[in-house]
Amino acid sequence: MKNNTIAVVLAFFLSSATALGWGGNTHKFIGKEFGKHIPASMGFVVRNVDAISAHSSDPDSRKDAAHPLEQYRHYIDQDIYPEFFTGTLTHNLDSLSAKYGSAYVMDNGILPWAIAWTFDSLVVAFKSQDSSKLILYLSDLSHYVADATMPLHVTNNYNPGGLHSRYETSMINPHLTEIIITPAGVSFVNSPLDDAFSFCAASYPYVDSVIHADSAAKAAAGGSTSSTAYYAALWSNTQTMTGHLIQKATEKLASLIYTASVRAGMPMKIDQLSTSPAVFALQQNFPNPFNPSTMIRYSLDRQALVTLIVYDALGREVRTLVNRELSAGSYEQMFDAGSLTSGVYFYRLSAVPLARRDLVPTEGRNGQVGATVETRSMLLVR
Ligand SMILES: [Zn+2]
Repeated sequence: MKNNTIAVVLAFFLSSATALGWGGNTHKFIGKEFGKHIPASMGFVVRNVDAISAHSSDPDSRKDAAHPLEQYRHYIDQDIYPEFFTGTLTHNLDSLSAKYGSAYVMDNGILPWAIAWTFDSLVVAFKSQDSSKLILYLSDLSHYVADATMPLHVTNNYNPGGLHSRYETSMINPHLTEIIITPAGVSFVNSPLDDAFSFCAASYPYVDSVIHADSAAKAAAGGSTSSTAYYAALWSNTQTMTGHLIQKATEKLASLIYTASVRAGMPMKIDQLSTSPAVFALQQNFPNPFNPSTMIRYSLDRQALVTLIVYDALGREVRTLVNRELSAGSYEQMFDAGSLTSGVYFYRLSAVPLARRDLVPTEGRNGQVGATVETRSMLLVR
């Protein structure tokens, strides 16, 4: 437990770099590098990684009187709860507060909920296509997800021997360019809140590793915790795990953003409650003509590997909107033309039944072997 709130607040202000999560440079790094995992079809995100990166430390600057809860959103002292060690810690904030008292729960940090709440806000922003809110919540999400991979943000023992800012800021800043993020793609996150708890728990084993690395570096530097020798040893001892944690932060962030966009309708299944069998159909986009975005609806009569691809008037592929397995049902897909120029574009839906996906797709409609395909045209007017 943080002994009391005043001590926590003092800790923030006595050392400006203390307890901010990863230092600002690392937040900016994660807030940009996650873009390596994002599918090209997510045009808005791809085009705005620099803005997301630039705002990725904004939540740290909101720890002020106007945002009294902000300071608790960056960490969770999960090891303060006995249930954490038995895998029975509730993810319900009300239940946990009822058991321990809301002040105690707040004081020990609410990072997993901050991730889930920000995710929910991001879904709303994707649905409304509100670009300033999108940047806000994409940046905030990048911040909180990154905090969850800083081991000293997921433990009560958050600043052993003053290690916190040494590890997250002083040590890492000169070495950020040595961290290479490997593209890993994205995956759908079924329950962002449960996943956020798992993600914080996954960082926990690294707490001891960081503390041991600090002790070893101190010994190697003759007891110093400020010399070049100390920092060289600390980096050498933690380089691999730190790179791994930052890679994980970028992957998780990308998957949560992708999931939020899917939840918001990219593509969104629009008849989830219906049990009536759908037919294969591709509808006319709406609005049409459009500028710059339009909605494409389609339905599938069976589970299939689906592609929805946009071509220009010369038949060149300009955007893959959907490329995934989908179950029977109706879907809608937002298409943002981005920087494309005015003119006629074609969009082509292809569905290969999963049992037959080893077959080469062939043109044709119902009853034929292989893919079912339909193409329509739309008009972009700038
Ligand atoms: Zn933070």
